[in-house]
Amino acid sequence: MRVRYVCDVCGTSVGDLHLDVLDEQRLGFTALTPEERADIIRPDGAGGLIVASVCDDCADTDTGRDQERLIH
Ligand SMILES: [Zn+2]
Repeated sequence: MRVRYVCDVCGTSVGDLHLDVLDEQRLGFTALTPEERADIIRPDGAGGLIVASVCDDCADTDTGRDQERLIH
């Protein structure tokens, strides 16, 4: 199974994992509430998963927070 981490702010690919078995505990998915899971983890349409993340650039510049401020 392919698990891709994609920046939720700019869409940059943050990481790419290929797993034989989906270990939700190792990926930290078990710590999420069902609502968070639905928000963060999406099927990629090819049998894998896309996980919303934040890349280093966006984490540094806090673009995500700025965008949120613009929206609200
Ligand atoms: Zn980013």
